[in-house]
Amino acid sequence: MASGFTNLHRLFLQAAISRRLMTEAAALELYSQVCNLTEEPFDQDNFTDLITQMNEGLNSVELEFRRSQDEVTGAPVIALTNTNGQKTAQVATGYSSTELEYFKHLVEAMVMADDEAYCISSTAALHETGNIKTSEGKPVTLTKRDAEVLLDRFVADKWFIRSGAGAYSLSMRALLELQTYLKETYEEQIQECTLCMEIITKGQRCQVAACAARLHHHCASQYFKNMNNKVCPTCHTNWSDKILIGLSDRTSAPSKVRKRRQRKTNGAGGEANNEGEADNQGEAAGDNDEESDEE
Ligand SMILES: [Zn+2]
Ligand SMILES: [Zn+2]
Repeated sequence: MASGFTNLHRLFLQAAISRRLMTEAAALELYSQVCNLTEEPFDQDNFTDLITQMNEGLNSVELEFRRSQDEVTGAPVIALTNTNGQKTAQVATGYSSTELEYFKHLVEAMVMADDEAYCISSTAALHETGNIKTSEGKPVTLTKRDAEVLLDRFVADKWFIRSGAGAYSLSMRALLELQTYLKETYEEQIQECTLCMEIITKGQRCQVAACAARLHHHCASQYFKNMNNKVCPTCHTNWSDKILIGLSDRTSAPSKVRKRRQRKTNGAGGEANNEGEADNQGEAAGDNDEESDEE
């Protein structure tokens, strides 16, 4: 592995590989333990330098530490991510091809969920087992029991979060590792926070339907902190923090997979809506004009 790595780097890396996603607080704690073990001085201020050095060394093996903020808690997090498989969901290694198909299927259902819900109920997730096909188009048999076990694994491996109400949504690990895949595959559905420009799947949205402003909860509280009048950073309409996207305030996810249309309704020529059928998504992305149309 990377030349120039000391024992400290190696130990930190080993621990990070097994955890994959940590809060910064946990990562700092780990850093301090590793310093202790290797008898190196611990200085919190050196943490960013450590991550930079590690990333330089890891570049050649296509790994990278990425920092972000948890969409649910707002806590700073750090994830060790693969950079090589960015273009496909194959980045979720350690699963069979059938399991990966199911994984991709669920990711798609979450991303395409109606009303920017970005989640799927467990009932719908289990129901999806009947809709999986191999890359050659053959149906895949996955029993409900297999699927249950697999869903638990996706959660344990920190790809998905399971809410109290039993709905699944994308975790920070998925958002950080599958960033490129998600943006390229679901260009129209994946949105970025207006303030931090990271992918957003849980947060607040502008009350003006035509406005694209979406804010993470933590970004919103930071931004509005000293404002008496909260207005949208994009269109300056009054901002309500009650209009949400994602799972945050839903007691349950949609029980059926209902996919949004590829193109938002723009009055003219909305194509037929084949309810329920969700196959042949393939690389169907047609032309990609932005939805620049106003109301
Ligand atoms: Zn944000
Ligand atoms: Zn707005």
